[in-house]
Amino acid sequence: MHEASLARAMLSTVMDSLDERSLRGQDVVSITVRIGELAQIDPESLEFAFSFAAAETELEGCKLIFTTAVAELLCVSCQRLNTYDIEHLYRCVYCGGPCDLISGKEFDVISLELAGSTVT
Ligand SMILES: [Zn+2]
Repeated sequence: MHEASLARAMLSTVMDSLDERSLRGQDVVSITVRIGELAQIDPESLEFAFSFAAAETELEGCKLIFTTAVAELLCVSCQRLNTYDIEHLYRCVYCGGPCDLISGKEFDVISLELAGSTVT
């Protein structure tokens, strides 16, 4: 279950970004996380792992909000942009050529909501 290590990484990312802005100690209401559709991260497991990792820290009880990043592929042959779909997988819909994945495996903390303000 790699969600446990992701949760710990998330926790330290959030703490670092609070430190950078001298906001440590502020009440964090929610964290918005972007997950690529091919990242193979289960939001429910992540939420559970996070609540465990955040227990007895200042982020205890803070809510996670998930957004999905669409997977996109760039065709090596015709250079056209493809949206990932289960039927074509890594093949270009236009020419059938092979594609490189350019997004869809993201795992980013994109914003924090503090009591009273939002930090991006
Ligand atoms: Zn193509």
